[in-house]
Amino acid sequence: MKPRIAVVEDNPDNRLLVEAILDDEFEIIEFETGAEAVAGLEDARADLVLLDISLPEMDGPEVLAWLRGQPSIAATPVIALTAHAMAGDRERYLEAGFDDYVSKPIVDEDVLLSSIRRWLAKSS
Ligand SMILES: [Mg+2]
Repeated sequence: MKPRIAVVEDNPDNRLLVEAILDDEFEIIEFETGAEAVAGLEDARADLVLLDISLPEMDGPEVLAWLRGQPSIAATPVIALTAHAMAGDRERYLEAGFDDYVSKPIVDEDVLLSSIRRWLAKSS
């Protein structure tokens, strides 16, 4: 069975790109907003979450804080995706409780894939 990855991303082009990169190796379940993610993540039983930082309704850090508070999914690895890469971001997001950080646009798909594989291996 393919590992299941939840992709929380409001931009349709980015969802398509991530889907194209991950499709062969993983089962993908998508959420378009933070509120949708909060409504569906417990049932999604994802092995890993890719979580956009800028989302409508609830942003990535808010979704992460919620997830860490749900015992059934609290230990799921969560990788931040952000378009506004700035110096110090990595430290800031890791401090906020994300397991890893990948900046958009995703120019090198191996960066994303290797992060996903590393975190799936750690959590299995
Ligand atoms: Mg966004």
